[in-house]
Amino acid sequence: MRRIIRTEALCLLARPHRESSKLAFFLTPDDGRLVLNARGARRLKSRFGAALDQFATSNIIYFWHEARQVYTLTDAELVCARRGLAAEPARFLAAQQVTEFLLRTGRPHDANPPLYRLANAYLDRLESATGSPRGLVGSFLLKAASFLGFRPELRRCLRCRLPVDRAEPGEAWRFDPVHGGALCPGCSGEGASARLSPAEVAELAELLHGRSEEVAGRELSPGQLGLVLAFVNHHIDPLLLNSFNWQEL
Ligand SMILES: [Zn+2]
Repeated sequence: MRRIIRTEALCLLARPHRESSKLAFFLTPDDGRLVLNARGARRLKSRFGAALDQFATSNIIYFWHEARQVYTLTDAELVCARRGLAAEPARFLAAQQVTEFLLRTGRPHDANPPLYRLANAYLDRLESATGSPRGLVGSFLLKAASFLGFRPELRRCLRCRLPVDRAEPGEAWRFDPVHGGALCPGCSGEGASARLSPAEVAELAELLHGRSEEVAGRELSPGQLGLVLAFVNHHIDPLLLNSFNWQEL
């Protein structure tokens, strides 16, 4: 059985395939992450144009085939190219981190419209970001993990439910990546996770609960980002994100 499917799609990656084609990895709202063969895409006059550029969103048409894992892209119309992401190294790296997360967590036919909308909204926000994009990346990871079923508790202690905003400023809280949340000094013991001030826990909570325009430009310490990554890596296995090992830009 085969069907013609139309959908909006975000290009996560495209790489050369055979003599003149490309294999494109797309995230879609209702069909999950797809691998599509774009025949002739490497010829000078390709009908797919910029739709196969990384970070571009397009309306695409593809042939779904029951017996295959790679489907055939037949048409693509660009909606948004996001060329500004490649214009600045820190933004480009941040966008790579977002798309690498989606490449590794995406599954074929795994519908997740909220995750799809989140990815597009954050790439739009990154394109116009000024200052460090690290807060936006941390916010994306926390929200994306939530949409995949792993929402960390960052407003109160995981165990005794003490609200973070009732903590004394000098207290040593911790973040437990395994159980996914904050621990007050009374509940944390001498755990392996790094210490955080209540203000740093509250900053992470804002990244999870705030809107993208509110978190754009927020700074996130390497330690805070490391905790977010440890949480994501623990719950979404196997996820070693190479783009986070690149040298800081
Ligand atoms: Zn507690």
